[in-house]
Order: sequence, then C-alpha cells, then structure tokens
Amino acid sequence: MPAHDVLILGAGLAGQRAALAAAEAGASVAIMSKVHPVRSHSVAAAGGINAAINPADDWRSHAYDTVKGSDFIGDQDAIEVMCREAPHEVMHLEHIGVTFHRNETGQMDLRAFGGASMKRTAYVADITGQAILHVLYEQLMKHHETVDRYEEWFTTHLLQDESGAVSGCIARDIRTGELQEFTAKNVILATGGVGQAFKPTTNGLICTGDGIAQAFRLGAPLMDMEMVQYHPTCLVENGFLITEGARGEGAHLLNSNGERFMEKYAPNKMELASRDVVSRAEQTEINEGRGVGPGGVGIYLDVTVVPRKRTLEALREIVNIGKDFAGVDITREPILIRPGQHYIMGGVKTDVDGATPISGLYAAGEVACVSVHGGNRLGANSLLDTLIFGRRAGEHAAARAAGMPMPKAQGQARLNDEQGMIDGIIAREKTGRRISEIKDELGTEMNKNVAVFRTQDGLEHALDVVRRLKEEAKTAYVDDKGTVFNQDVLGALELGYMLDCAECTVIGAIERKESRGAQFRVDFPDRNDDEWQKHITLSRDGDGTPVVGYSPVTITQWQPEERKY
Ligand SMILES: Cc1cc2nc3c(=O)[nH]c(=O)nc-3n(C[C@H](O)[C@H](O)[C@H](O)COP(=O)(O)OP(=O)(O)OC[C@H]3O[C@@H](n4cnc5c(N)ncnc54)[C@H](O)[C@@H]3O)c2cc1C
Repeated sequence: MPAHDVLILGAGLAGQRAALAAAEAGASVAIMSKVHPVRSHSVAAAGGINAAINPADDWRSHAYDTVKGSDFIGDQDAIEVMCREAPHEVMHLEHIGVTFHRNETGQMDLRAFGGASMKRTAYVADITGQAILHVLYEQLMKHHETVDRYEEWFTTHLLQDESGAVSGCIARDIRTGELQEFTAKNVILATGGVGQAFKPTTNGLICTGDGIAQAFRLGAPLMDMEMVQYHPTCLVENGFLITEGARGEGAHLLNSNGERFMEKYAPNKMELASRDVVSRAEQTEINEGRGVGPGGVGIYLDVTVVPRKRTLEALREIVNIGKDFAGVDITREPILIRPGQHYIMGGVKTDVDGATPISGLYAAGEVACVSVHGGNRLGANSLLDTLIFGRRAGEHAAARAAGMPMPKAQGQARLNDEQGMIDGIIAREKTGRRISEIKDELGTEMNKNVAVFRTQDGLEHALDVVRRLKEEAKTAYVDDKGTVFNQDVLGALELGYMLDCAECTVIGAIERKESRGAQFRVDFPDRNDDEWQKHITLSRDGDGTPVVGYSPVTITQWQPEERKY
C-alpha cells in the first residue's frame, strides 16, 4: 500500500509546484491526477503571469492594484506575500527553462492587463500556462526517485484518522477501475476550480470542484464561494476564451452603434478596467439593446486595431481559436464575444502556507481561497497564486512531515465500503435522468441566475433548482457498467461535487446583501462596508447542509475606498 510524506491531489500548476517544493525539501512525494499532468486545466492559461519586474514598478503597487481589484475583500497579508514573492518566482521559472517573451533590448517583455497600473504581465505568446506546465513537469522528472506519479487516477475520498487529521485518500485507477488506499502524513489539494457547474464556461471538462466538495464533506470551511468571475471576452457560441492579452495589446470593445462604450463605465482604464467592471458594462449594453450579432446577445471585440504583425506574434493562439471556433480572422474583422464564466475566487479556506483548519490538509491554486482575489481576480494573478501558494504549501507540508510518524492505513474494510458506493452507482436502474441532462440544467440555471447580475428571486429560484437536482443526481444512471476507463461512473461522482459547490455558491450569494466585485445584486446595488466588509464562510452541518459563518478581512496598509477605474 503506497505511503508518502506528502500526497498531492492534482497536477496543474499548483500541484506540480507543490510537488517540486516538497521534493526539494527532502520529502517523499506522490502526485495524483485524473488526467495526464500536462493536460491539466492550467495548460489553457493564455495571457501571462503578473510580477513587479520592471525596475520602475514595485510589489506594493502590484499589491494595491490587487487589493483594489478584489473590491477590498482580499486579505491584504496574503496579497502582500504573493506580490512580494512574485518577481523571484517568475525569475525562477525563467531560470528553469520557461521561454518568456523578450523585448528588443533582450529583457523580459511585459504586457498590459486589466486593473493593473502599469505593464506587469510576463508571457510566452498566448500559451503561458502550457509553457510553464511543461517545464515544471520536466523538472519533476529529475526527482523521479522520490516523487511517485499516479497519472489517470481519480481521488474519490479523503481519509481521516481517529483524531480527525487527514491521513490519505482512496483513489480509483481510471484505466482498470481498481480502488487503492494511499496513506500520507499530509495531503495537498490542488484539484482546481468548478467552472463546469456553469454553462457556458471557459473551463475544461475536468473542472468539476472535486477537491472543494471533498474537503467540504470532511468539515473544511469554504470561503467567498459567491464570488464567481465572468470573463468579458468569451466566444458567444461556446464560451471559448479570447485572452485579456488582446485588450492588453490594444483591442477595442464596440457596441451596435460602433461606440467604445467603456468610455462611459471606466473612462481612465477603458477596456483595461477590472473584469467584473468590463463584464457588467458589456451586459448592460446587451440588456439595453446595444448588443451585436444575432439577437443582439454579443459585443464586438476589435483586434484589427492591433498591428497585424504583433497579433500574429503575441496572440497567435487566439488567431487560431477565432478561425477554428468562430470562423473569424481576428486580424481582419471584429469577433463576437460576451461575458462567460471563467474562474471562482472562492474555495477551501487556507492560510498563507496553504494550511486548512483540518490538520494535515493543505490546499493551493483555484481549489483554495487564501484569499488573494477577494471579490474579483485580476487577470494574470491566478498563475501567480498557483505557483506561490503551491510552493509554500509544498514546503510547509514537507516540514510538517519531517517530525511525524506515518499514519496507519485503514485497510481493506474501508476500501470495500468505497467499492460498495461505486457498485451502487453502476447498479442504478434506468429510471433516473441522465447525468448530462442534470449537468446541463445546472449550468443553464447558474448562468441565468447566478451570473453577472443577481436578484433575490433569481437566487432563490437557483437554490430550489440546485436542491432538486441534488435529489435527482442520487438516481442518475450510468450506461457503462465496465471497469476500463469508465468515465460514466466518474461523471456521476463529479456531478455530486459540482452540485455541492453550486449550492454553496448560491447560499453565499443570497447571504451577501450588497454589491461588491463579481457579486452584483440588482436589489442591493451599493457596496456596504459597514455590514459586509467580511468573508462569508460555509461549513457542513450534520446532515450535509451548508451553514453560513463569517471571517474578518485582514487589512494591513490599504484602507477601503471607492473603487473607480
Ligand atoms: C482559457 C483560460 C485562460 C486562462 N489564462 C490565464 C492567464 O493568462 N493567467 C492567469 O493567471 N490565469 C489564467 N487562467 C486561470 C488559470 O489557468 C487557472 O486558474 C489555474 O491554471 C488553475 O490551476 P490549478 O493548478 O489550481 O488547477 P488545474 O490546472 O485545474 O489542475 C487541477 C488538477 O487536479 C486534478 N484533479 C481534479 N480532480 C481530481 C480528482 N478527483 N482526482 C485526481 N485528480 C483530480 C486534475 O486532473 C488536474 O491535474 C486561465 C483560465 C482559462 C480557463
């Protein structure tokens, strides 16, 4: 039975960075992923990573922009850690082989991104996530003697010992259907976000909130779950992302009158205001009848104003996306976009070392809420978050492991229980709904009522729908009864995770009776610092219902002020 000092669940940027740090600290490490590591969702990250590298820049300016972007609900101690450590982390990436774009003088080039007071985003064309993910994977290979990789293994359950500390997990080998127990002194969750609870979303099919729900079921509190980022430039047809790098290079947003409407909403920053501001501006134009395209449901993104040579050099992937998924050559004509679900600011509550309130359980990356993004994440701050807090979690977990004995394995009886749960799913009669139907209804409902604009009635409707779907999910049937690559069974488990996460998101949104960051309540349009300058936490009560709590926002040097761009 495998036993490790540090078991990392998830092999995106957060998981791989954690694995590398833990291995370098001398721990025995295992990293597990339900897809091959370099197919993790991080591979999709396009535009870049923020760091105050320019000598004229300063980490405090980056931190202030992040605090402001968060609408003054990000924890400033965590933001300080992230921004202070950013330049060193990006240089480290460069030294281990990430080929960041350089300017004519040979220095690392930086591009503009939303909400930033200066050019601060390092990039590899528009494949930054892919470039970093592949280099980290190569680096992990150097540690093959102390790092075991479990690729295409699906974690179904986190294990706890008698004291309540996390002691490993149960996972299913996707290739064979075999279940196995993994014992570990520490577990780091790096399982990513839950974008698939929304439709459309920019997120990969694997982003189903597995780790968030598994931690929640264990008793770990979730935080800021109501804060869901809608990205301003997603293809109307399918939610594919056109990176913010396009606006960073100078692209314009136009309504049906051909106006650059951001003049009205953010006269100083225009298209480069923060994402929540731009998404709301677009949705307002659409709702007020100035949308473009069939049914007026979109907005034009005009990249033709960027020199063609520059577009082909720095935005080549979205040139391909435009051609392949919208039939548009963005170097010659505007492309139809609209806001679409992109990122969740909330997740498992952690401290700056990735530790959760449950002993031995850490979390980093999109699964976690440290909280550095608060009500709204600035573009290019997520890759940074994954790397800084992935590394810190890896180092911390390795240090903790050094002083403790290996927990006892729980053995065959526990495995039999888990197998019984899976057999129960496979044995379901064809009387229930299909998993895909339930998922589809969930995503559509969330996109309708838990999106850019929210109301009490809409949110209550969404909660009713989510709770009905939770019941229906209990009888959803699977067609595939086999053991080899049975994605159908895994789909049933993922549906349960998405529904748990969605319920927490809606409850948080109903609770927060104000507008801040990504949470815009039409019925409470103002930010209300007196009552709501606090985090909303959600913990599970005995029968599984999320219970609301609060946590204070840490302020260090930036007092709340009105947010204007
Ligand atoms: C199109 C797009 C472009 C983006 N561009 C940028 C950008 O330019 N800059 C930026 O800062 N951010 C960007 N982001 C956001 C950023 O990419 C993500 O937030 C970040 O990569 C998340 O990384 P992660 O390591 O937390 O999780 P992920 O990369 O999502 O990895 C999750 C891992 O967990 C594993 N996993 C999940 N559940 C299980 C389970 N049950 N069992 C086993 N393994 C499991 C998966 O297999 C995977 O390995 C972008 C996002 C998208 C969608």
